[in-house]
Amino acid sequence: MNETVGTAPTGDRGPARFAVPDHTRAPIAGSDAKASVMTGAGSGAEWLSRYSSSLMGVFGTPQRVLVRGAGCLVWDADGKEYLDLLGGIAVNAMGHAHPFVTSVIASQLATLGHVSNFFTSPTQIALAEKLLALVKAPAASKVFFANSGTEANEAAFKLARRNGDGKRTKIIALEGAFHGRTMGALALTAKEAYRTPFEPLPGGVVHIPFGDIEALRAAVDDTTAAVFLEPIQGEAGVRPLSTEYLQAAREATTAAGALLILDEVQTGIGRTGKWLASEDAGIVPDAITLAKGLGGGFPVGALITFGEATSSLLSAGQHGTTFGGNPVATAAALATLHAIESQGVLENVRTVGAFLRKGLADVDGVTEVRGVGLLIGFDLDADVAPAVVQAGLDAGFIVNSPGPRTIRLAPPLILSTEQAGRFLAALPALLQTAKESQ
Ligand SMILES: *Cc1c(COP(=O)(O)O)cnc(C)c1O
Repeated sequence: MNETVGTAPTGDRGPARFAVPDHTRAPIAGSDAKASVMTGAGSGAEWLSRYSSSLMGVFGTPQRVLVRGAGCLVWDADGKEYLDLLGGIAVNAMGHAHPFVTSVIASQLATLGHVSNFFTSPTQIALAEKLLALVKAPAASKVFFANSGTEANEAAFKLARRNGDGKRTKIIALEGAFHGRTMGALALTAKEAYRTPFEPLPGGVVHIPFGDIEALRAAVDDTTAAVFLEPIQGEAGVRPLSTEYLQAAREATTAAGALLILDEVQTGIGRTGKWLASEDAGIVPDAITLAKGLGGGFPVGALITFGEATSSLLSAGQHGTTFGGNPVATAAALATLHAIESQGVLENVRTVGAFLRKGLADVDGVTEVRGVGLLIGFDLDADVAPAVVQAGLDAGFIVNSPGPRTIRLAPPLILSTEQAGRFLAALPALLQTAKESQ
């Protein structure tokens, strides 16, 4: 057996040397043959048949079995290549298998992977500081780390409940809103099909018409704990709120003593060519939630509270998570943010996003193009969006249809103009194929 020498404290005699079995270096049979040893190999069809007999049906049938990625490209189990214009739904900010991000994750994991929140680690603290600086949070602002978007919103929901000591029972969200699938976040989510099977949901949430400033002013009163807004509704087909709406929401919530909470889970971390989609509105919210792009593909979410009063609403013991803010997730996020900053990525998002939107507007059959940066939704002149997704896959493009005639693009932020151009050139034929398949 391999042995290594460690040290243990032995009182005032100082550390003594002792021998421990070296589990860290003992070879695992077959480990040199990588993951296929653990999974076996197979065609896409074989994998999908195993999928349907082993995985819960909540996602329907997956479109493809993906085995490898590099930059904006991914490959499936049958060796077919795809240009990924969805980026894991706005997650793979620096593309797939980014060398810097993956090397930081691997080395953090090989150094210290998990410690629990009885302890902290330098990456957790450095990421909190970095995020506070990036979102230009005022003094005494704070960060809570979670593992996903819904968890970040769950924390924000509890924060809202603490506003007003039980006297503020109303929480306002918008029609079309998507804030996640756990019970609190689901209560904020508008879609009936997602909500109804799970009622009763946490109470007090009302949904008001999207983008209607008068409806907002009428709804916000002294019983309102918080207003939750997505600066751009992603799941609803990429619908931006206007600057005037965001400013009116800030005024109304401030006047009523309610929190303004921005869900930037999809729109944050450079997706729009700015760190936050709400930046241009020039407002300071009370809280922001982040997730999707933050870890560059590694699961990490965050709730950022702005200023002293909001940041002290949740006190010791009132919220927590085992995995949230662990060294690997926070290292992944630090690496992603560093890569975005040092590679001119925000500028690329603005340039390629503008190129894509302009090109899309010129395509026959595209009736409207929405979005900012590389979060783009476009409408078609017929209910063929799911068929376009299918035709895209067959032609080697990954896109998404959040509605029957809406296509969403949320590619890696490093998408090149050449890659965007390849999709634009292929789109007329995809629309044609989709219409013929109906
Ligand atoms: C995806 C999303 C969520 C939920 O994030 P999960 O990581 O899937 O839990 C919440 N809010 C918005 C705006 C999202 O786009």
